[in-house]
Amino acid sequence: MVGQVREVDVLIVGAGFAGMYAIHRLRGLGFSIRAIEKGDDVGGTWYWNRYPGARCDIESMSYSYSFSDELQQEWRWSHRYATQPEILRYARHVADKFDLRRDIQFGTQVTDATYDESAAKWAVTTDRGERFLARFLIMATGCLSVPKKVDVPGLDSFAGDVFHTADWPREGVDFTGRRVGIIGTGSSGIQSIPLIAQAAEYLTVFQRTANFSVPAWNAPMSDDKVAAMKRDYASLRRKSRNSYAGDYAEEAILTIMDLSPEDREAAFEKCWQQGGFNIQYFFTDVMESAEANRLAADFVRRKIRATVRDPKVAELLCPRDHPLGAKRLCVDTGYYETYNRDNVTLVDIHGDPIQSITPDGLKTGKASYSFDTLVLATGFDAFTGALQRIEITGRQGRKLSAAWADGATAYLGMAVAGFPNMFIVTGPGSPSVLANVLLAGEQHVEWISTLIDHARAQQIGEIEAEPAAQEGWARQVWQDADRTLYPRAQSWYIGANVPGKPHVFLAYVAGFKAYCDQCDEIARQGYAGFRLRMNAAA
Ligand code: NAP
Repeated sequence: MVGQVREVDVLIVGAGFAGMYAIHRLRGLGFSIRAIEKGDDVGGTWYWNRYPGARCDIESMSYSYSFSDELQQEWRWSHRYATQPEILRYARHVADKFDLRRDIQFGTQVTDATYDESAAKWAVTTDRGERFLARFLIMATGCLSVPKKVDVPGLDSFAGDVFHTADWPREGVDFTGRRVGIIGTGSSGIQSIPLIAQAAEYLTVFQRTANFSVPAWNAPMSDDKVAAMKRDYASLRRKSRNSYAGDYAEEAILTIMDLSPEDREAAFEKCWQQGGFNIQYFFTDVMESAEANRLAADFVRRKIRATVRDPKVAELLCPRDHPLGAKRLCVDTGYYETYNRDNVTLVDIHGDPIQSITPDGLKTGKASYSFDTLVLATGFDAFTGALQRIEITGRQGRKLSAAWADGATAYLGMAVAGFPNMFIVTGPGSPSVLANVLLAGEQHVEWISTLIDHARAQQIGEIEAEPAAQEGWARQVWQDADRTLYPRAQSWYIGANVPGKPHVFLAYVAGFKAYCDQCDEIARQGYAGFRLRMNAAA
């Protein structure tokens, strides 16, 4: 098709969970669509992140599509938290069931997208030289899809294999007999370290910042439990929609600072025994009061000390430089226990930073470490990475990179002033990563497709966020965040993990329900904050 221009109503970039649903939804509304996907199959983040131990950390019955009751009734999740292979199987099942692949072009990257003001259309080019013209552009590119550039000197000199958790070999890695070094102790590191330690001859973990991790207590789902949840699925989904985190887990009902020391300890212990994010979401004040947070953090630190036999290692694993939850809480299976193994060493690279990678390991200021395989669990250029890989040019030749030079903002976390007819699913300023991102993506797809459908019915040719609405939204996102402890960490939530990235709070912290209610109200008001221009011909 090189040379020809293919015209569609909607071009969707990305065929992860959000993109897949966008295909289904917009096709159902009768729009012509094309989806462009870099991977060779559907699944997005679950296609790329195949490292050992990769699994969701929101319960699978919740971390799954809600749009089709038939789908949620027929699919059987094996465990409380499904593994990456199971989640990828689910994505493929959805693609087959709804016949999505016929509208997806795999193994292709969008390289640039330019808004043609006179035609009110996006001209899009791919790395295969194809050209598309689309009335609407939907960026379903994911919040955590581009690995951050690894800023460790000497990486190229390493003689052994280097694997990044977010770009794991399709065929897997056999760690038998290998001496492995791993850099990074965020969620990806914390999930993979226990399994790499079991498989490898030796594992050295290089930790710059200790993170808070809580147990998953993952287990198979019994038939009875699954059946009971499926009978009640509609109300579980309603509860999720009306919750803080887009989940059916119990909502915050206790205030730590109101509890006696005994009741507090009992409540923390209950959260710990339930596993998952409870310790963060079960209390009204844990993300708002520094003292309440310290009490919760102290509880987790006591658990670490009770688990890890070597007191020096335990102290190194105790996070101290950020409030619990202000860097995303990790959910693990046997993470702290792994440091009791004879074949695992923890190295503090905060006190003694890495100087360089060498052909057979790495050097810090004070020591050298040797290994033959290096695993990078060093995270992502969150929210903006995937969008900034594409040369996006809006009205009057303005680049998205220029519009975001002082920090990424988008009205409702989905539309950028100066970039008409372009929508970002779970973009900067949306609840996305602070909620159940699967449901957050569904809500965005439904809201955006309803708006596009409305535009078609009303002969509206251009939809654009008003600059004042976008600024107001950015202010609200920041003020909401500022009332919490979230900004008190150098986290990827504020872009602090990528050198040079402007710091703005990138997620909406006031909760999924509050966000959805605002979106609904804005729609009721005729899409307040959007400039809707009629077709020239209308
Ligand atoms: P991350 O949370 O950003 O962690 C990256 C780790 O690499 C940090 O420990 C960081 O240390 C370290 N690091 C980065 N660059 C380094 C350098 N140059 N030298 C030394 N250390 C360096 O990334 P992630 O673990 O991939 O997780 C990102 C997010 O993806 C999670 O927060 C979560 O939202 C999502 N995720 C979810 C799941 C799940 O659902 N189960 C699993 C994996 C990931 P510093 O902290 O000191 O920068």
